Amino acid sequence: MWNNKNYHTFDYEMKKIFGEKAIKLSIDGNFTCPNRDGTLGSRGCIFCSERGSGDFNSDKKKSITEQIEEQKQIMSRKWKSNTYIAYFQNYTNTYDTVENLRKKFYEALSCENIRGLAIATRPDCIDTEILELLEEINSKTFLWIELGLQSVNDTTANFIRRGYKTVQFDKTYKQLKDKNIKTVVHLIFGIPGETNAQMLDSVKYVSEKNVWGIKLHMLHVLKNTDLSEYYERTKFKILTIEEYVAIVCDALELINPETVIHRLTGDGKKSELIEPLWTLNKLKVLSDIDNELKIRESYQGKKLPLFPL
Ligand code: SF4
Repeated sequence: MWNNKNYHTFDYEMKKIFGEKAIKLSIDGNFTCPNRDGTLGSRGCIFCSERGSGDFNSDKKKSITEQIEEQKQIMSRKWKSNTYIAYFQNYTNTYDTVENLRKKFYEALSCENIRGLAIATRPDCIDTEILELLEEINSKTFLWIELGLQSVNDTTANFIRRGYKTVQFDKTYKQLKDKNIKTVVHLIFGIPGETNAQMLDSVKYVSEKNVWGIKLHMLHVLKNTDLSEYYERTKFKILTIEEYVAIVCDALELINPETVIHRLTGDGKKSELIEPLWTLNKLKVLSDIDNELKIRESYQGKKLPLFPL
């Protein structure tokens, strides 16, 4: 199927496009977020860590160029490739003036062997001017925008304090699509109060929009977050690895085979993670997903009537 995988992996797609592995370099652009700076809230989404949901990247005090060169050094110990994607990961990476955004994005693009840009943001932080900038960048490089939707259910969105309604996502997603800008949507499984059916509703909703990419995450309870206090108080149900693997396989069966699967499990920093500790063994989670798909004789899109392979 996709280089021996039963789902359309990011690695497969990048090798198809660039002819070699693409290495993502996580950049901290020193932005903030309307959920953090008091505009919509000051405590962030309920699960958000102090570093704005980006815990494995560079020092924001360094320039974009310095961060990129430093990350290249680190990553070259692990992978051999000259294709790099600069990934603006922490906080909301379009939450600034167009001038500042332009400066930072073009600085990243000017670094050697940067062949694309990934920008994580919120759908309520892309206005007309920023959309025009993104369109311009999209005409010059391989660009994608990541939107943290997490769930299409607005009750869940209120609980996690996402700060925008799903119709806002719909609107921005359409604007990006109309400009041929690729979008990757993040969904989280295991949010308190969500049933398996609700989690799969989010997957179906996103898949029906033919998004370019999806990232699936298990909810992480991190230290010093409001979610950790809520967990201490309520001891809400944390999915087991078996439950997570099953729901991920159910989800993959509902996702359009054209959609690139950027991630199936998250990276929780060991020192910060309270639960679920099984996520620390990422290789096991991924291998259990592969095994489960094989046992089911299943693959991405299997349950979509339009896409039998
Ligand atoms: S939108 Fe992102 S950066 Fe902002 S509070 Fe939520 S998770 Fe954190």
